Amino acid sequence: MIPFNKPYLTGRETSYIEDAVNLGKISGNGYYTKKCQNFFEDKFGFKKALLTTSCTDALEMCAMLVNIEQGDEVIVPSFTFVSSALAFVRQGAVIRFVDSSNDTPNIDPNKIEELITHKTKAIVVVHYAGVACDMETIMTIANKHNVVVIEDAAQAICSKFKGKWLGTIGHLSAFSFHETKNIISGEGGLLVINDDRYIDRAEILWEKGTNRAEFFRGNINKYGWVDTGSSFLPSDIIAAFLWAQLENIDDIQKKRLEHWFFYFKHLQDFALSNDVVLMQEPHEETNNGHMFYLICKSQGQRSSIIQHLKQNGILAVFHYISLHSSKFYTDKHDGRELTNSDRYTDCLLRLPMFYELNPNDVVQALNTFNEN
Ligand SMILES: *Cc1c(COP(=O)(O)O)cnc(C)c1O
Repeated sequence: MIPFNKPYLTGRETSYIEDAVNLGKISGNGYYTKKCQNFFEDKFGFKKALLTTSCTDALEMCAMLVNIEQGDEVIVPSFTFVSSALAFVRQGAVIRFVDSSNDTPNIDPNKIEELITHKTKAIVVVHYAGVACDMETIMTIANKHNVVVIEDAAQAICSKFKGKWLGTIGHLSAFSFHETKNIISGEGGLLVINDDRYIDRAEILWEKGTNRAEFFRGNINKYGWVDTGSSFLPSDIIAAFLWAQLENIDDIQKKRLEHWFFYFKHLQDFALSNDVVLMQEPHEETNNGHMFYLICKSQGQRSSIIQHLKQNGILAVFHYISLHSSKFYTDKHDGRELTNSDRYTDCLLRLPMFYELNPNDVVQALNTFNEN
């Protein structure tokens, strides 16, 4: 059976974990944590990088940093993972869901401004499949209305928008190292702070509301409880695993992109003869090989393709169920129809994508698909 995802190990993960254990300091903010955070700040130019236990956690920190209060409004695409909305909902926010674009599942930048009210605190954008949202339009709208932009860059490592790394454009950004992403640590995440206003407070929220980080830098001689927060920082064991991945980031990215282009090149006939639309070729700088998807012509056709692949020993999956029609949020949604989100919910299909994949196996199976 060819799985949908298989976590790739570079081979050094366990030896770095062993090293972290031998160093004798395995709680958070240790040797490997700092190594990883420095790597992110140096390679991508993030102003401040803090490892978290998940991307969800990093988004929760964002909700706290922008002081979301009961009744505040946050603008979020509907076609995304729950965390993009949940992190703000648990802080009391009302979510105004936005439809996806016609041509990509990303937020439609032209449908944002009409939703902004005096209660709007933040816009969350999701770079679906690692492909950049239109950050130019989005930042212009946000700055005009004095609203914070948070990039949910969970899928977007090593991807750019007009020469700028994703994660550096919004005021705050969040990445994921969940085992289904390009760079992994089992569970894991990263908060990026690009706006100076949030840096000191982010460190405090990260360390259970204490000014411990500042204490360890020697700036104060006693640390204590100064704010809200939680235990958002991962053990250094997790960071040691992540370091092994970061050392190989170029190799991992190269391999995933090879697979992406193999699919793109060899599925054109399949797409044409079945009325299926392939994921568009993004501008080169904004393709990180995170995902390859098809847009089927109907939900029925998608089921047939999944069935056909399964018969050929291949697991393909779909997601998301648009959040505005989720069990949790449907009766809280304001009732607007989001037709593109619904179309992606019904028709988008993800093909297997992982380092050790042989994409030709999937291509061959798809080429024998015959709808009847
Ligand atoms: C994976 C993902 C998340 C959640 O990441 P975790 O690290 O599992 O919390 C959030 N948003 C998007 C868009 C994702 O793809």
